[in-house]
Amino acid sequence: MQTVYPFGGNAPHDDPRQRDKTVTGGKGANLAEMASIGLPVPPGFTITTEECVRYLQAGESFRDELKAEVAKALTHIEAAVGKRFGDAADPMLVSVRSGARVSMPGMMDTVLNLGLNDATVEGLANTSEDERFAWDSYRRFIQMYSDVVLGLDHGLFEEALEIVKEDNGFYADTELSADDWRSIVGQFKGIVEEEWGKPFPQDVHEQLWGAIRAVFDSWDSDRAKVYRRLNDIPGDWGTAVNVQAMVFGNMGDTSATGVAFTRDPATGVRAYYGEYLINAQGEDVVAGIRTPQYLTHAAREAAGAKAPSMEEAMPGAYGELARVFDLLEAHYKDMQDIEFTVERGKLWMLQTRSGKRTAKAALKMAVEMVGEGLIDQSEAVRRIDPMALDQLLHPTLDPQAPRDVLTSGLPASPGAAAGKIVLDADTAEQWANRGEKVILVRVETSPEDIHGMHAAQGILTARGGMTSHAAVVARGMGRPCVSGAGAVSIDRNSRKLRIGSHELSEGDEITLDGTTGQVMLGIVPTVEPELVGDFGTLMVWADELRRMRVRTNAETPEDCRMARQFGAEGIGLCRTEHMFFEASRISAVRQMILAEDEAGRRRALAQLLPEQRADFTAIFEVMAGLPCTIRLLDPPLHEFLPTRDEEFAELSDATGLGVDHLRRRADELHEFNPMLGHRGCRLGITYPEIYEMQARAIFEAVCDVQAASGKAPLPEIMIPLVATRRELAILKALIDRVAEEVFTEKGARVDYLVGTMIELPRAALMAGDIAQEAAFFSFGTNDLTQTTLGVSRDDSARFLAPYVDKGIFPRDPFVSLDIEGVGQLVELAAERGRATRTEIKLGICGEHGGDPASIAFCEQVGLDYVSASPYRVPIARLAAAQAGLAAGK
Ligand code: PEP
Ligand code: MG
Repeated sequence: MQTVYPFGGNAPHDDPRQRDKTVTGGKGANLAEMASIGLPVPPGFTITTEECVRYLQAGESFRDELKAEVAKALTHIEAAVGKRFGDAADPMLVSVRSGARVSMPGMMDTVLNLGLNDATVEGLANTSEDERFAWDSYRRFIQMYSDVVLGLDHGLFEEALEIVKEDNGFYADTELSADDWRSIVGQFKGIVEEEWGKPFPQDVHEQLWGAIRAVFDSWDSDRAKVYRRLNDIPGDWGTAVNVQAMVFGNMGDTSATGVAFTRDPATGVRAYYGEYLINAQGEDVVAGIRTPQYLTHAAREAAGAKAPSMEEAMPGAYGELARVFDLLEAHYKDMQDIEFTVERGKLWMLQTRSGKRTAKAALKMAVEMVGEGLIDQSEAVRRIDPMALDQLLHPTLDPQAPRDVLTSGLPASPGAAAGKIVLDADTAEQWANRGEKVILVRVETSPEDIHGMHAAQGILTARGGMTSHAAVVARGMGRPCVSGAGAVSIDRNSRKLRIGSHELSEGDEITLDGTTGQVMLGIVPTVEPELVGDFGTLMVWADELRRMRVRTNAETPEDCRMARQFGAEGIGLCRTEHMFFEASRISAVRQMILAEDEAGRRRALAQLLPEQRADFTAIFEVMAGLPCTIRLLDPPLHEFLPTRDEEFAELSDATGLGVDHLRRRADELHEFNPMLGHRGCRLGITYPEIYEMQARAIFEAVCDVQAASGKAPLPEIMIPLVATRRELAILKALIDRVAEEVFTEKGARVDYLVGTMIELPRAALMAGDIAQEAAFFSFGTNDLTQTTLGVSRDDSARFLAPYVDKGIFPRDPFVSLDIEGVGQLVELAAERGRATRTEIKLGICGEHGGDPASIAFCEQVGLDYVSASPYRVPIARLAAAQAGLAAGK
């Protein structure tokens, strides 16, 4: 199997493997694709991801075959550019970049100008007729190579450079002459020798293999692993390596480098969008060291900026770029994120990929592209990452609320975020872990900050443009971000922050508006999102494409209303024990639990009945005409037993029983393993009066709503934690009896169903038998996961993250269903249930009902609906549509 694929020049690009991201990575596949449609791509080659996996498995050693293929591919580049690698008279230089299947911060990024040494730098000076450029390129190379390949501290090089600048009274790098750079190269080599213990490698092949090794090794770096875990990227994908002839954006004022998007990645507006720098190399743009200039005249005007746009300064190259943008969009049928270089007036494309975008932009682009005839409605639905909708479903700043604006920066990633200032990523993570909302404030961010950015509500940086690390990563994560807020200065030592005339400390509260770029003092109130416009359009298309219904997990009228606004088509799980958490009710529940006998329990239940009935009535009014699955009480006892002195005192007042007596009773009820204890239907079996009260409350409420409005919902009464048919049979009989009693009393009848949760392995195995009694099954995959894996839901957080890191589970099985294991039980129970009762209703109400991967599985198994918490309902609608599309293929 071919391991190295040449591209550009006269290379063939017809092997489909070369354009397959899984083989050549995103960057490599797109370079080949661009070259194949005739775009100007500097020639190069890609080493496959498969080779990376092989290298890592072989204990980090290269195969001889690889060496031979790379040597051959180098001659391809040499032939295309008419220069030789390592030729002292006229050297060919290359860049080396990583390129995984998906773009992945945390991995080795780029080494430029590779192939320079003490001899070739002179050759470059001669052929370019620009000594300054040659020595500047050499020092950049030493700096980058030392940092990313040799692992030396890049600060050492920056410091040395700063000292030279200070000594000479220079401000900008552009003020340094050829001789200055030559002497800096000398100093840099000295630093390398001192820190690395060996001279900077002069052999260009040693340089190349060092860089290839660094790319492969970076796949397993800690930063890459963290990123993979956060983004569910499997560890066995590996990364490709791209080696490409250098083109130079730093060859004077007719040269430039830039990054661009074919549409605005923050808003989705159809306008070229990007930044460029004259006489610079790529890393200058991304690093945020120099402030980049706008691409278009319109964008410069809108920002009120003075420095000329590319459209104005380089009309020829800009015209060519605009032509390429249009070709790329027409070819990929998607918004592209591009890197380019102009070398002495000639445009070169270094990269294209489908651009990261905010959810808002993703929706706008998808809907508009349908209008433009670029894609169809199903493709638009497929394009949107359901989880990204989360960004739109959360509140934005209240436009009416007063704002104490401290400063403004760039609106790098939209949305509102408020919290306490933290100044480094570790602190962000620690504070977030103890439940605080934090805003990470940095001069600029780097891949080492990823975990802190993830833990933070939002990110504020003092430097960096719209395509800086902070901006790109924040948009990808859906974190609001304000970047390049120049008025912010940070003092790491005193852990203080100055914004204009305000001095703030770590822990002080601020609010960011990533949509406008404003930074505000204190916490600004927010308003609920409106689900109209592009969002509404796309959801209509999604609803037309899905088979499964989407319900919600909710137990208050407010949540039900919200869920209906989000498109819920019923309640999939109403956890009745949650209705008792309120302070005013918990006392009656405790009395019921602690009662010594049935009479005591009935007294407590009598207090609860009217409250339950009122709760159900309010919910049923909101859910008129829709199915509502009400689950009877399933309280793990430890969540309800009193523990504090005041709680016992209060209970003693209410019952007239002594505190000691109550304590003794609570001790008696203590369980070692409450999750496997006296909960679920076991409570209903032992204390039938509890379920009797609940059934009565439900039936009375439905009859009342029916009488008042004529629009009763369909109650589906659900029994939790059933393991045997007999349990269900006993409880079903009880419910049917209460139903008849209420119907007789009210002189009215309503429809209802009785069914069960399938949340124990035994219930799944015995589903055929249990279906004799059950009109529906709802998969309680939280407990089913807990009991199938033998892993406690409440205690797993401590050890599951390392399990995921080690690849034991691809994802946390409480978040995304363990399809291969627990999934088998779901599938088997669905089959056995249907075999007994063809028309049995099947749904899922565990947390997995809001997880797109799990929803796709539910579609495959043929469930009738999924149920998710209110904010997840739109996500579930979209995921169900995508699952339907995938199944229809
Ligand atoms: C479940 O176990 O999946 C379920 C939905 O019930 P609960 O989370 O209330 O135990
Ligand atoms: Mg459960």
